[in-house]
Amino acid sequence: MVDARIIDGKTIAAELRRRVGDAAVQLRATHDLVPGLATILIGDDPASHAYVRAKTAACAAAGLGSFERRLPGDTGEAPLIAEITRLNADERIDGILVQLPLPPQIDVHRVILAIDPQKDVDGFHPVNVGRLWAGVPALVPCTPQGCLMLIRSVRRDLAGAEAVVLGRSNIVGRPMAALLQAADCTVTMVHSKSRGQAAIARRADILVAAVGRPLMVGADWVKPGAIVIDAGITPLPGADGRSRLAGDVDFAAVRGLAGAITPVPGGVGPMTIACLLRNTVIAAGRRRGLADPPPLLAQGE
Ligand code: NAP
Repeated sequence: MVDARIIDGKTIAAELRRRVGDAAVQLRATHDLVPGLATILIGDDPASHAYVRAKTAACAAAGLGSFERRLPGDTGEAPLIAEITRLNADERIDGILVQLPLPPQIDVHRVILAIDPQKDVDGFHPVNVGRLWAGVPALVPCTPQGCLMLIRSVRRDLAGAEAVVLGRSNIVGRPMAALLQAADCTVTMVHSKSRGQAAIARRADILVAAVGRPLMVGADWVKPGAIVIDAGITPLPGADGRSRLAGDVDFAAVRGLAGAITPVPGGVGPMTIACLLRNTVIAAGRRRGLADPPPLLAQGE
């Protein structure tokens, strides 16, 4: 039994963040431009606060501007959309991110529609979704973009590969399938109503799990030599009372079988913020008619 190559998302994300920083330096030097990311946070969910803090710190480290808007948990849809409209018109801001989940009084779809598609760095606006599926330049959702970069770090040419995506959410599964199809894979999507899930997964040269069910993917789901990307993160109580993160893949059972595998944590997670920064820099250039910065074209396209 040969152990799988471990795909080190921390290192790959750090390299991407360095390239984002280089691109930001170039934009400042050549166009006197500092790309800016605005995050809107509603309510006081501790996990959402932690995510927004991490995004703000990452922006600062890469030389991007960051703008935080905090709104009370009982904010209605109209004031939120009014805030988005102000950010759409603000020239300092190139990316707008509304931290999800939103409180129940707010319709997430109407909120996403209010974001200027050129500033939609989450890639959730129907204009960007449509552009991604149509195969024209789009702002692409960060987590699947990061997964694709991790896949490319171990296999450059994906043409003809059998890819199976577990999960079909708008945030991960669906855009992941679009990206793999654009990379010339033959793509199958598996969801909660799919039959024979393990047998379908076992066909995959590239298996991406984005379900949110800890350890669902066991050894009988994986073809020997497959690339296994685990986007799942579920907090589970640890023996010491502190919570730990569990992926969708049973890492211990699969690592002796897969060709390459991402750990949880330290795999997909670090790529998501790095891709958000990348999207912010790309959005800053594109909405001014500039070509994408060369440091960001190096890999994972
Ligand atoms: P989601 O919106 O809850 O979607 C889960 C998907 O999994 C759905 O399409 C669902 O199918 C499918 N599913 C549920 N049970 C299944 C089963 N038994 N067999 C096959 N498919 C099943 O979740 P999400 O937002 O895509 O997130 C998925 C996971 O990725 C979560 O653990 C989340 O925390 C993680 N995540 C990580 C990052 C990161 O930065 N690393 C970012 C985003 C999400 P139906 O459509 O039929 O219901």
